[in-house]
Amino acid sequence: MSMKPLQQLVRPNIWALKPYSSARDEYHGVEASVFLDANENPYNAPYNRYPDPLQEDLKKALAPLKGVRPGQIFLGNGSDEAIDLVFRIFCEPKEDNVVAIAPTYGMYKVCADINNVAYRPVSLDEDFRLDAGKLLAAADGRTKLIFMCSPNNPSGNDLDRGEMEKVIENFPGVVVVDEAYADFSAQKPFRTELDRYPNLVVLNTFSKAWGSAGIRLGMAFAQEDLIGLFNKVKYPYNVNQLTQQQAAEMLSKRFDVEKWVKVLLRERDQVMAAFAELDVCGKVFPSDANFFLARVKGADAVYAYLVRNGIIVRNRSRVELCGDCLRVTIGTPQENNCLLGALRAYKAEGGSR
Ligand code: PMP
Repeated sequence: MSMKPLQQLVRPNIWALKPYSSARDEYHGVEASVFLDANENPYNAPYNRYPDPLQEDLKKALAPLKGVRPGQIFLGNGSDEAIDLVFRIFCEPKEDNVVAIAPTYGMYKVCADINNVAYRPVSLDEDFRLDAGKLLAAADGRTKLIFMCSPNNPSGNDLDRGEMEKVIENFPGVVVVDEAYADFSAQKPFRTELDRYPNLVVLNTFSKAWGSAGIRLGMAFAQEDLIGLFNKVKYPYNVNQLTQQQAAEMLSKRFDVEKWVKVLLRERDQVMAAFAELDVCGKVFPSDANFFLARVKGADAVYAYLVRNGIIVRNRSRVELCGDCLRVTIGTPQENNCLLGALRAYKAEGGSR
């Protein structure tokens, strides 16, 4: 089934929207040297000037690294901004709905709730595998978006690529594929296939492999007409100058990033193997990310014990399909040893307190 025409998918008010035109939108040549157009203060350079609203230099530098064109990139205040924007662009409050895999990253539902859009979670199987038919069956004529996350948070696994393709190819609305953790996975990313899929939005972030959660920079990749809608709705200066600068700096450190990823993956495999040997461990789920999910004997007690020892993991035991599960992020070797040592001692102390 092919995608509905974009105009049918976009909220009418957004389709008709005349976006705010900032001083920097109206004039952005390099010839001028006297800028008296934006009510800025002439003192305190370089922070006195508004940043580039479309972050063009950064997008030019990013595009070849990501295998996309600059016009296929949206940059925002974390990928969370892109997630919120897709709701505001496509979903009419109280009328439209979205479908998402479950369990998955919590912000899709939070943004649905904030925007008063019905959220339809569809369970993965007990090994967190995707069934495209089941996901598609949950959609109806008012379903605007489908969310998939691969590698998935909190389960850590890649979703089956063939099943994901079926969803993208057979859903007439927009499919959001969150590849926040794709730098850790061997699976081919969807980001490089934008030209094949007019209804695809892929999310990436600087917060994971790029080691830059503090600068808040998220990316959405899609065909140019979709990115145009993001640009129309976003705050005019949504990515501040310090973030743009620091991101450019990180691009020059991309070989460090590659090294970090290698180190983290090796460390992950060792930690997962050691974790599986712990008395407290029930099951370690396979991971294609920089974290793993593990079922333990008494997650609440183990979690509380780790907190008392100054070690914080994520207690996911109340999340669908994740009963008694903890989610463990891979840290430095010292941090990981600290965790494993504490859990070995937990056994020595006789467990559940
Ligand atoms: N997507 C997924 C799957 C995540 O796990 C996270 C962060 N935990 C995000 C997006 C948010 O990323 P950002 O920091 O870019 O907002």
